[in-house]
Amino acid sequence: MHITVLTLFPEIFPGPLGVSLIGKALRKGLFTLQVVDIKAFARQGRVDSPPCGGGCGMILAPDVLEAALASFSVPSGTLFLYPSPRGRPFSQEMGQEFSAQHDIVFLCGRYEGVDVRFLEKHAFREVSLGDYVLMGGEIATLAFIEASVRLIPGVVGDPTSLQEDSLDVATGPLLEYPQYTTPVCWEGRSVPSVLLSGNHGAIQQWRQEQACAITRQRRPDLWKRYVAKQLPF
Ligand code: SAM
Repeated sequence: MHITVLTLFPEIFPGPLGVSLIGKALRKGLFTLQVVDIKAFARQGRVDSPPCGGGCGMILAPDVLEAALASFSVPSGTLFLYPSPRGRPFSQEMGQEFSAQHDIVFLCGRYEGVDVRFLEKHAFREVSLGDYVLMGGEIATLAFIEASVRLIPGVVGDPTSLQEDSLDVATGPLLEYPQYTTPVCWEGRSVPSVLLSGNHGAIQQWRQEQACAITRQRRPDLWKRYVAKQLPF
């Protein structure tokens, strides 16, 4: 997967994408990350202009963004993503879809946002990190990349661990069962005895029951989808 990020703040990258398993994947070339500094394409020292029609803040100018986009090659089939509070909320399903993409361009907005004509011209998909407003698209971009890249085969050592995670598309969507480790008794709290029994069938059943109970209690929306998937038609 080849990822290009257009940003006014290239120093934010790779940031968390450069550490741990994801950093290893980057160094191994399981994905590439090209960061383009929009400021390098400023028009008379500016990347933005006031909104037409008045109002507060500044809007990233389409000609500046076009020049930034024209500075590298964009293969056909590239997915254009614009992190935005107006977009569809990001989900594990989207992460799965993005992880199968060969080329992705992220445009990180700032200030009051981006001139919509640039978004329309390149058919940018708007994707939201959640129902709140960030200062810029960089943190959302980092989250979308991390959630998508970890689903690329070979990034996470044991692929079965992905299936046991919360929200797995194939087996869920369920929230994960509670996890315990040693010491077996800590500050008066013991690990459930079934997890120490060595009976893999019983452990599997306990975990499935816990995952179902937690999902039903905390996320009725996910539980409804899970139950619908279990129906025989
Ligand atoms: N005026 C915009 C609006 O009301 O929709 C918000 C602009 S925000 C201050 C600046 C940039 O941060 C946006 O262009 C977008 O790229 C990014 N951003 C803010 N909130 C976001 C969210 N919830 N998800 C993804 N990106 C977000």
